[in-house]
Amino acid sequence: MSQNINEFKICTLASHSALQILKGARDEGFKNIAICERRHLRAYESFRVADEIILVDSFSELPGLDQQLKDKGGILIPHGSLVNALNTDEINALQLNYYGNKHVLPWESDRKLQREWLSNAGLTLPRIYSNASEIDGPVIIKFDGAGGGKGYFLAHTPEEFETKIKQHPERGYIIQEYVIGAPMYMHFFQSSLTGELEIMGFDRRYESNVDSVGRIAAKDQLDLEIETSYNIVGNTPLVIRESLLSRVLEMGERAVEASKKIDGIGLFGPFCLEAVITPELEFFVFEISARIVAGTNPYISGSPYTDIRYNEPMSTGRRIAREVKLAIEQDDLERIFSK
Ligand code: ADP
Repeated sequence: MSQNINEFKICTLASHSALQILKGARDEGFKNIAICERRHLRAYESFRVADEIILVDSFSELPGLDQQLKDKGGILIPHGSLVNALNTDEINALQLNYYGNKHVLPWESDRKLQREWLSNAGLTLPRIYSNASEIDGPVIIKFDGAGGGKGYFLAHTPEEFETKIKQHPERGYIIQEYVIGAPMYMHFFQSSLTGELEIMGFDRRYESNVDSVGRIAAKDQLDLEIETSYNIVGNTPLVIRESLLSRVLEMGERAVEASKKIDGIGLFGPFCLEAVITPELEFFVFEISARIVAGTNPYISGSPYTDIRYNEPMSTGRRIAREVKLAIEQDDLERIFSK
């Protein structure tokens, strides 16, 4: 006998894309639970979007709530704050239902594995410099575990790199070719029930201070000796040139296909390919996020693309809840939960 959606509760950490996950759960008829850090309670109470709020001092307390959430029929929806708060082993150890494939997580969090995955998918990637002495053009220095691009800096000669890296002693980093072009964050949903890949939308990031240096004259930029930084403060919606959509779908499909090598099942649910498009319209993919990304937040009442497909407000959060609901109705939960 199939189960009923009343036996389940969609739960998530109250951060990142939680508002759309909680609202999306409600829109599909689920009760929801927000695990909320005390210092952020005000925001989540204010929107009246959570049916139940479990207060913690830090998200790192989640493993201690595992049994309680499991007993409540919790279905955990992962997002960026979860992968920041818990390491892969801690996430693997969770016993409550988890939407998505946990086996993909190490491939997402390790830059080398991620690169292998994207190259296997046949995508074009920016060059990585293994030695700073080889720097022969613009490069971006990305630090390990730097959520949100904080502290990333640019250089274009080995000398400039050596001077700047001294300000960041003892931090792991990579030196990546800086591709001059238009950044494009492409949001997908891969259904493990239908096998279909859907485009959920596009966004661009709004970062401090890089998105505001253009507001002052070049002379002032030089006089003030401004160092660009990429600390994310928000996201803005975007549509892509329509003739590029087929290529976007093809890139998403390839990323999904290549992920099957990981464990035979591979990536499903929401994910994001992060790219820079050059004036020649070549896509350089510099990252994949194998879960919902905050760049879908502008589309809580649907994106132009989900409007066309669904004819009703369909956020990525709601799309996840819809998938869970369908799996419950079809008695097919093993296709959406991690083992
Ligand atoms: P995070 O590590 O927080 O995901 P990103 O990888 O998105 O940060 O990078 C931060 C910023 O740098 C973004 O604006 C992104 O578009 C830009 N960026 C990242 N890699 C490249 C690259 N290789 N070439 C050009 N821009 C890049």
